[in-house]
Amino acid sequence: MAARPAWETMPALMYHSVSAVAGPLRDLAVPPARLAEHLAALTAAGYRLVGLTEALDLLDAGCTDRLLAVTFDDGYRDFLTAAVPVLAEAGAGATLYASVGHLGRHADWLGRWSPDFGALLSWEELAEVADAGVEIGNHSLVHHPLDVLPAAQLREETVRSKDELEQRLGRRVRSFAYPHGYNGAKVRAAVLAAGHDNATEVGRRLHTPGERRFAVPRLQPTPDLTGADLVALVAGGGSPLVPRLKRLAQPGWRVARRLARAAGRNLT
Ligand SMILES: [Zn+2]
Repeated sequence: MAARPAWETMPALMYHSVSAVAGPLRDLAVPPARLAEHLAALTAAGYRLVGLTEALDLLDAGCTDRLLAVTFDDGYRDFLTAAVPVLAEAGAGATLYASVGHLGRHADWLGRWSPDFGALLSWEELAEVADAGVEIGNHSLVHHPLDVLPAAQLREETVRSKDELEQRLGRRVRSFAYPHGYNGAKVRAAVLAAGHDNATEVGRRLHTPGERRFAVPRLQPTPDLTGADLVALVAGGGSPLVPRLKRLAQPGWRVARRLARAAGRNLT
């Protein structure tokens, strides 16, 4: 069977911190030079790099460019100083998902692994990011996996976070990223009911336009992936992957999920 045209699927990437970190959280950080290498290689390969909502809007409008959505989860403080200049240099759009209840503090769901890692943007810094043209998306209030929350708390996590972002930034918030990627029909319905118009998960495959607008899958580039590796990864859609790429694309978010589950015992 002939290969599908490139524009029939859309890769979306999920970054976290733009820095270098050692230890079990290593894969949650890509150094700025590596990010620049990734974006340059993708642009050279013909991709137009945009934020997630813009990508979906363009697809809805029938755009046939080779779109690729660039996203960053959690709202790490290094985004302003390390990612914003790299994105500007590359001419790339992006979406940054802020974990609203933690802004100005620390990603404490990551636990004790790396006390020097995980400082998050303040509200003022987040506003600067938005002013730089980056889409701000919602990553819930407390960054707890939503699939295990009671209905009232699920509503709070999806509605209050969006309201707070919109009021404090004075901008509409259309996109939601599930903490740790976990979603099900009930969670997706809550995110829709809260007024979002798209949402993203982990997924490790390419998005097929028209499908799963509330669970757009993303691939996670790790710091070991070269620009050429990443171009091969997005071209292959993550499946089937050559073994080396497969290994490099199995990042440390499972560790984060485990830590969140442990932390969740104190939340209820
Ligand atoms: Zn997150």
